[in-house]
Amino acid sequence: MALAVRNLGYMQMPLSIPVEVSFSLSVNLQGSTLHDMQRDMRREIRQGLLGALRSAIQQVEKALLSAPVFCPRCRRAMRSRGRTGRRLVTVFGSLDLQRARYSCASCRTVRRPLDEWIGIVGTEYTTAVREQALYLTADLPYEALEAYAATLTSS
Ligand SMILES: [Zn+2]
Repeated sequence: MALAVRNLGYMQMPLSIPVEVSFSLSVNLQGSTLHDMQRDMRREIRQGLLGALRSAIQQVEKALLSAPVFCPRCRRAMRSRGRTGRRLVTVFGSLDLQRARYSCASCRTVRRPLDEWIGIVGTEYTTAVREQALYLTADLPYEALEAYAATLTSS
């Protein structure tokens, strides 16, 4: 599976990011049911997707930082000032991101290119989470998801 990331501003070419998700299931032939297997698979793949998302976000940041970061006021190249952490809640779970921080030597303006790309200023929740929080959050019981899926297929 490859994700095409668009709208990187100065980068017109879509970025192709390979994504791999794999996991192992523990199945007891005597005791486990198909129901158990689906529940376990859903849990495991969610963890796998969270890891894949972290990796994809890192690739996006790498691409964002492949060109100089300019100060919006002075138009001069900014200097890298290490990384700072922030929590990001995604549809697959929470990520603690360490994103690059840049500052302007002249006017001290600070930019975090990854935050600008994600579009999170003042909230740790992504737009997708806010839109889909009801059905895609982590801890919703499997039975509730089944009921929800039934409403989708019944129309
Ligand atoms: Zn500046």
